[in-house]
Amino acid sequence: MELVFATHNKNKLIEIKALLPHYITLLSLDDIGCNEDIPETADTIEGNAILKAEHVRHRYGYNCFADDTGLEVEALNGEPGVHSARYAGEEKDDKQNVAKLLEELKDKKNRNAQFKTAIALNLNDNQNLFTGICKGEIIKGRLGDKGFGYDPVFKPLDFETTFAEMSLTEKSEISHRGKAFRALIAYLSK
Ligand code: IMP
Repeated sequence: MELVFATHNKNKLIEIKALLPHYITLLSLDDIGCNEDIPETADTIEGNAILKAEHVRHRYGYNCFADDTGLEVEALNGEPGVHSARYAGEEKDDKQNVAKLLEELKDKKNRNAQFKTAIALNLNDNQNLFTGICKGEIIKGRLGDKGFGYDPVFKPLDFETTFAEMSLTEKSEISHRGKAFRALIAYLSK
């Protein structure tokens, strides 16, 4: 069965390809000739994943799944949330996003935050949603040089290191994305 992963990100594709059951042939957006920027105009993380999966299903006719991730910070009423990639501007600059987050939190006592990944699957006539959450806190300065995005300032609950100090394998075991993708894979493997 052919299944599209609605992403242009080659690393994400390689990672998920290795985990899917063998009867699934994973296709990227490039593989199906989709070069457009799929609209991400919903105001929730779940909504954006659903928009992307529906777009591919209806415009291109393929079974498809799409993911969306955001960092939700308690003291900022859930921001940056759906705006995580562009928090400090359209350039999607990780360093500037982290700098803005640290500035917004500089006087806040409550540093609780969570990453959330939503994956929407459009398979034949059914739609399913898989969610993964990783709770933690935003520390006051950057630690570690692995990973990407907000990893250097995010310390998962019950851990002494940030995501940016963990190997990808360690991070995936507890991360929002790892949890959501394992739920998707379990469903597809049934
Ligand atoms: P996307 O939906 O996976 O493209 O993620 C949107 C934005 O959330 C990214 O541009 C990053 O800023 C942030 N983000 C997503 N996943 C992670 C993560 O695992 N660690 C740190 N930041 C992340």
